Amino acid sequence: MDFRYSTEQNLYRQAIREWLTKNLEPRARAIDEAEDGIPDDITAGMAELGIFGVTIPEEYGGLPLPEDERLIYAMITVHEIARADLSMSTPVYTLLTLGWSYMINRYGTEELKREILPLAAQGKAFVGINTTEPGGGSDLGAIKTTAIWNDDKQAFLLNGEKAYVSGPKECAKLGPPSGHCTLVKTDPASGHKGMTFIWVPAHLDGIQWTVYDDMGRMGLSTGGWIYKDVELPRKYVLGEEGKGFYAVMDGFNAARVLVAAACLGGAEKALEISGEYTAQRTTFGKPLGKYEGISFEMADDYMMLDMVKLNLQRGAWMIGQEHTNPGTFSRKEINKVISTCKCQAPPLAHEIARHGMMYHGAFGYTKETPLEMLLRGVMSYEVGAEGGLMVMRGVIARDEWGETHNPFKD
Ligand SMILES: Cc1cc2nc3c(=O)[nH]c(=O)nc-3n(C[C@H](O)[C@H](O)[C@H](O)COP(=O)(O)OP(=O)(O)OC[C@H]3O[C@@H](n4cnc5c(N)ncnc54)[C@H](O)[C@@H]3O)c2cc1C
Repeated sequence: MDFRYSTEQNLYRQAIREWLTKNLEPRARAIDEAEDGIPDDITAGMAELGIFGVTIPEEYGGLPLPEDERLIYAMITVHEIARADLSMSTPVYTLLTLGWSYMINRYGTEELKREILPLAAQGKAFVGINTTEPGGGSDLGAIKTTAIWNDDKQAFLLNGEKAYVSGPKECAKLGPPSGHCTLVKTDPASGHKGMTFIWVPAHLDGIQWTVYDDMGRMGLSTGGWIYKDVELPRKYVLGEEGKGFYAVMDGFNAARVLVAAACLGGAEKALEISGEYTAQRTTFGKPLGKYEGISFEMADDYMMLDMVKLNLQRGAWMIGQEHTNPGTFSRKEINKVISTCKCQAPPLAHEIARHGMMYHGAFGYTKETPLEMLLRGVMSYEVGAEGGLMVMRGVIARDEWGETHNPFKD
């Protein structure tokens, strides 16, 4: 058993940290405050480093990496971006494209992969996820959006509404082939078995979008879609028709690794900021760090952070093993580790940001420190994005104790 990152993984981390510290970190506040999102020169610089290609095979323009390590590289990437942009805008933008490109490679048709992945690897296409509807996000079985096959048109006709989805403005800005992996019902009478996961390019006729006014991650838009007879060719189906529920759950596990990585990267940076501040700020003749009321709380935060980081590393590794060598781990084993990380990382990051603000006193309540941006950003993952915290607990209860503890079924 070896818990260390490899030499190559460490070199990659070091290289991107250097670039992100110099180029992204000084712009994080501006990204959070400006209306026009993440600047093009930042995404172009990230693309040049190969960041958008870590989950994409070389034949589609990605980086030459071992297949079973792709998610580990993505986890390192998102962690480092979050250290540099505590608003969570750039890390979430990146994790969506990395995570859902990974799924397009796993489930997409050859034609779809050739259409999307090379441009995604260059940072020229946004790839998102689209499951939530105005009626609710946790209960995916209850979605109402349909895509019914039409023989005359030789296409699925998409109708319905999606809500609280990340990236509509970014899709508009980057243009085709940007879009979202979308969960729909192709056979509404068949419950979970009638669900299909399908690629929906954002620029097709019959699509309208709106943008909401969020409280955090201001550099990345969240909005809603309305679909009216949008024509989707069969080549856009991800995996098998009728098996979309399982494909989306597989995707959520990979995406949740990256969500947790974003929260942990931000938390790690916040704890560093707190360490520096409490070393130099004195009250009653001593630095704040000398008071156990502060240093012991920081030590508690460190312990929790270290434990969740290690567990996440295990989760990313497990998924990589399972995807390259199916049967290595059961779905339940993976679900429990990933749900644990997704349930723990966002509130932990929130607490570490809040503690840091407290150590900074009144200064912590100003926008001179980036801590309040982190607090607002990670709240998105507490209220629900990529699966609510209570839903993660439900998954763990179901997969550990079985149907008697399954809150999702009567
Ligand atoms: C900033 C942001 C970005 C987002 N981006 C995307 C995106 O890109 N794509 C996308 O598809 N969706 C996105 N979402 C939506 C997200 O997936 C949903 O918020 C999430 O699925 C929860 O759905 P809901 O908000 O409708 O809450 P509901 O399902 O209505 O749940 C409300 C609350 O009840 C809790 N809850 C639900 N069921 C139970 C239960 N059985 N027991 C106990 N508690 C329960 C939930 O955890 C939640 O706290 C985003 C959300 C946010 C805030």
